[in-house]
Parts: sequence; C-alpha cells; structure tokens
Amino acid sequence: MIIYIDMDDVLCDFSGAHAKALAENPGIAFPQSQYGFYQRLPPLEGAIEAVKELIHSDEYMPYILTAPSTKNPFSYTEKRVWIEDHFGYDFVERLIICSNKGLLKGGILVDDNHSGRGQENFEGKLIHFGTTQFPNWGAVRRELSLKI
Ligand SMILES: [Mg+2]
Repeated sequence: MIIYIDMDDVLCDFSGAHAKALAENPGIAFPQSQYGFYQRLPPLEGAIEAVKELIHSDEYMPYILTAPSTKNPFSYTEKRVWIEDHFGYDFVERLIICSNKGLLKGGILVDDNHSGRGQENFEGKLIHFGTTQFPNWGAVRRELSLKI
C-alpha cells in the first residue's frame, strides 16, 4: 500500500522552529522564508524511526508528500536536502513536492492538515496527525500495526 507522509509538523518540527525563530528575532515576519530554515528543522520524536521501518516494510511503500513554501524558493532544495540528511540518497526519489495532494493516488496520507493543499480530495484514508486520535508517531505506528 502506498502511504504518503507530510513533512512540516509531521516529520519535522516546523511550528516549534517557527515560534523559536520569531521569539529570537521578532523583526522577521516570515522566518520560514530565511535561507536554511527548512534544512535545519529538527525531526519530530519517533518520525525518523517510523519512516525507516516503513521503508523496510513489506506492506507499505512510503513516499514523502510535502507542499512547498512557494514564496521561498529555497524550500524546494532544502526539503530535498533534509530527506537525504535523514534517510539517505536512495530515498530522495520518494520525495514528492506538490501543492495539490489530492492529485496523488494511494491508500494513506499522514498529514497534520485535513484541507488546504488538496488533502480534502485525497482518495485514500487520512491519518490526521496531531489530533487527539493521532497525537504522535506512537499512535500512527499502532494504527499501521508497526512493531513498537
Ligand atoms: Mg504539515
């Protein structure tokens, strides 16, 4: 089964880094537009391990599906570098940068947003990350029946 995994606030801590950057430098309105912002995002707890397990799973074929920050051209490159940094070069071909997630065919989408980037039109099941049902990767792993 094809499973798509979002990046910001699912694999990496966009909101935490955004708040930290604003606190450190209130004069910058859009810290996410700064060079290096996306590349330096810290992974969320358990995210890297879960994706690595999916990569080696017989049941799932994971892809990373992320919408770009279109006002920050660096984001396209930095998301690609982030994936190589954390999963190695071979996994880079599983990175899909797309503003309309509803176009993709597959069984599962793990995303912290249920709409706005085509999630509402995704044909498969949405695992709504960050909700009370799926607050973290532990809950997602249980849903996917991955070993703990
Ligand atoms: Mg997101």
